Amino acid sequence: MKKVMRIMRVILTLALAAAVVGVIWQRLGPRLEDLPDSAVKPKPLDPAFVRLTPRETATLPLATRFDMPLGSEHGAFTYNARAFRIERHLGDDLNGIGGENSDLGDPVYAAGAGRVVYAGIPHETWGKMILIAHRLPEGDELGPVVQTMYAHLESVRVRMGQIVQRGDPIGTVGTAKSAPLAHLHFEVRIGPYVNPGQGYADTALNRVSPEQFIRAHRGAGGEVLNPAPQKD
Ligand SMILES: [Zn+2]
Repeated sequence: MKKVMRIMRVILTLALAAAVVGVIWQRLGPRLEDLPDSAVKPKPLDPAFVRLTPRETATLPLATRFDMPLGSEHGAFTYNARAFRIERHLGDDLNGIGGENSDLGDPVYAAGAGRVVYAGIPHETWGKMILIAHRLPEGDELGPVVQTMYAHLESVRVRMGQIVQRGDPIGTVGTAKSAPLAHLHFEVRIGPYVNPGQGYADTALNRVSPEQFIRAHRGAGGEVLNPAPQKD
């Protein structure tokens, strides 16, 4: 009988201890609403694994001509502060000729006809970014798909899936953690993989020189002088 009493006392003590720990845990333990977003929200699909399907590729708008995305269609009133492959750079850093933040808020134009395949903030170092996929005419050695990428934007005026025409305003020049002074980081990428990616790498990856690409795909002679787009 004494033995049974002792066992009962041990069980009671353990139960009491568990209750006390439970109460303390409830009072002091993490609450769902206190947990960081990353712990309770589903993670977005890694964009590295997104690629346009053959059908999506086939239905992309045909881009027969490309223009510069900042300044005039020739890129007048702009300069390239860090060109493609300078210091492992994967794009061109386009600035207004006023330098510093004089181009903050300037309109950014779609370089060619295409479909917006990404519009968002992939990472704070990138800030706001747009990716537009374009279908190149048959026979173009870089085709059938290229993507133009616009990063460090202040504002984004397009949404994913939207069809844009060459010269459509798609956003404005801004800053980001890796771009304290406003400029447009502009890339041209080959192929159907939709991935925000990085701005620097030891090799060119799937990027080509944006300036050279636009020059080769303008489809209009350098003597064609269109008026500079108006800031609206
Ligand atoms: Zn850049």
